[in-house]
Amino acid sequence: MKYGVSTLAVNHLPLEPALRKISEAGFDQIEIVAEPPHFWPGDYDPAQVRAWIEALGLSAPVGHGIFSHTSPNAAALDESVRRADVERIATCFEPLVAIGAEYVVLHPTGYAKDYTTEHRKAHVDQARRSIEELAVIGGDAGIRMAWENLPHHGADRPLHDLAELRALIDDLPDHVGLCLDTTHARICGHDPLEQLNIAADRLFCLHLHDCDGEHDCHWVPGRGLIDWGPFIDRLDELQFAGTRSIEVAADESTFGQVLWASRQVAGSWEDRAS
Ligand SMILES: [Zn+2]
Repeated sequence: MKYGVSTLAVNHLPLEPALRKISEAGFDQIEIVAEPPHFWPGDYDPAQVRAWIEALGLSAPVGHGIFSHTSPNAAALDESVRRADVERIATCFEPLVAIGAEYVVLHPTGYAKDYTTEHRKAHVDQARRSIEELAVIGGDAGIRMAWENLPHHGADRPLHDLAELRALIDDLPDHVGLCLDTTHARICGHDPLEQLNIAADRLFCLHLHDCDGEHDCHWVPGRGLIDWGPFIDRLDELQFAGTRSIEVAADESTFGQVLWASRQVAGSWEDRAS
């Protein structure tokens, strides 16, 4: 099917049982997260992971690059920190290629709330440096990179608007593109459909999840405020051929219901297109 699910939904489980739960829920595609307890570089043998994926009838066309456990910041103002973080981010490229991933989703800024208007341009300049350097490393590794819109949480965190992020990557080679996260757009005051139209032919990956309009809820699509019908229809009009990951969050007590509901939504979206 066209829609996959992120391993984020089974983040309470080690990778092999996590993959099994996703397969049992009826999905055949995953976005594998390169963070503990899942595909953190060095924690698993890619050949073993590829064997698990194939045995379960899954594919992993996209991975989520490292972003949390060690808090890498591609937009760090301290140049030595930025360089070290670029190297760290790149450590997931080869393992992802080894399990068959074609895309890696990356964050252009670190998870920090202390962005200030004063340093905004400097952060953007640092992000651009990192994106250029990672484009070279990713090109050599044979992976396409999708830079994601992230929420500003009320700070002057740049690049939450895909218009700004697209302008930053527009002149880069065509293995560099964008990831649209629907909730991140919505809680920053952007219309996900409008952001989709802006990303258009540079859009590689989708993170599909719903919200209350204020928080990064990672809810099953349909539970919150996002107007899904026109958005899903527009993907087909654009003949979008990238990855469509439902990026829902759950815990030990909710994951069964969340996976089931996500699979129902994916099925209804597939029916809509046919
Ligand atoms: Zn996302």
